[in-house]
Amino acid sequence: MKAIAVFPRKPDSIHLAEFPRPSLDAVPDGRGVLVKVLRVGVDGTDKEINAGEYGAAPDGDDVLILGHEGFGRVEAVGPNVAELQPGDYVVATVRRPGSSLYDLIGTNDMTTDDTYFERGINLRHGFLTEYYVDDADYIVKVPRGLREVGVLLEPMTVVEKGITQAYEIQRRLRVWRPRRAAVMGAGTIGLLATLALRLRGLDVTAFGLTRKPYVNAELVEAVGGRYHSTADVPILDGARKHGPFDVIFEATGHSPVVFESMQALAKNGVLILSSVTGGDRRVEVPADRINLDFVLGNKVMVGTVNANREYFEIGVRDMAQAEAEYPGWLGRLLTHPVKTLENYRELFDTLTTARGAIKVFCEVADFTDDTGRWRSGSAT
Ligand code: BGC
Ligand code: ZN
Repeated sequence: MKAIAVFPRKPDSIHLAEFPRPSLDAVPDGRGVLVKVLRVGVDGTDKEINAGEYGAAPDGDDVLILGHEGFGRVEAVGPNVAELQPGDYVVATVRRPGSSLYDLIGTNDMTTDDTYFERGINLRHGFLTEYYVDDADYIVKVPRGLREVGVLLEPMTVVEKGITQAYEIQRRLRVWRPRRAAVMGAGTIGLLATLALRLRGLDVTAFGLTRKPYVNAELVEAVGGRYHSTADVPILDGARKHGPFDVIFEATGHSPVVFESMQALAKNGVLILSSVTGGDRRVEVPADRINLDFVLGNKVMVGTVNANREYFEIGVRDMAQAEAEYPGWLGRLLTHPVKTLENYRELFDTLTTARGAIKVFCEVADFTDDTGRWRSGSAT
């Protein structure tokens, strides 16, 4: 079968490769699930991997199959899989367990190991291929009604983990009724964070670089948020007007924004950091002021990466609520489809150069003619 692969650490090595189709028996204890890949989203992580800055091939391989934002349909399941059946739409989680205590108790997203295993990113093949096999423990069912937007689930989980962790941390306050939130960045993650915070009833101000008219700003407003371009309203001005913020979700990919966000945070507030910043940028900040306000205001800042199964399940519920409350909104994020694995060049060119792209994704296989026939007659 075909796959889009790279030679990790070698810049622009993306190519189409041929791999054997995986077999169900590759997973022990009859827990295997064979998934036909339908769509795969790409993001900044894939960009960095193809730039040779990030990622590693599985042991014994020199290539890595890309793709960690998968969406597919179950083709076959092992004898000990009761929770899934052929025909189900699914998304697989990204990280697989290492050896730390956190991995052993099923929270691999919290690993303290230096080496981590992530499908399509580090030491494990990804989903930009025709089929994959994995353990049912890592495969999450997506209701049929969400199949058009199912490819957004993995990015959504990054947001869900950050927000869930923030609420968990805020239990320290006994009573916490967040009202005002800010989202830094209006890319895919920023938009999904805006959505998730609006679904929780917060007043949301999203900040981005681009001036209106801007589709992403319209999307923020379509869920009842407000959008400011930092070209007109710097973060601290916005915070004076609409803040201070009880929750801030940082997703700009630009680390200096973190220090501005720290100053826009309300007393007892929580700042969630999700930008993976590979560079070595330096900035000068009012360190005493920021520190003093953090101390006197009992503020919290938390980093978040990856997501475990529970956040995929929360993501499915939020996406279902979003479709009920803002029908069609999630679909508007799917701006740049690219057909078939053979067009890997176009996929990555679109990812790196397209203006106005929110989510670029590969349509690996068509599923519009899927009538759900798999379902009938399977309950014996
Ligand atoms: C992925 C995460 C992953 C992180 C770091 C992100 O793009 O969505 O699952 O943990 O990169 O590798
Ligand atoms: Zn990602």
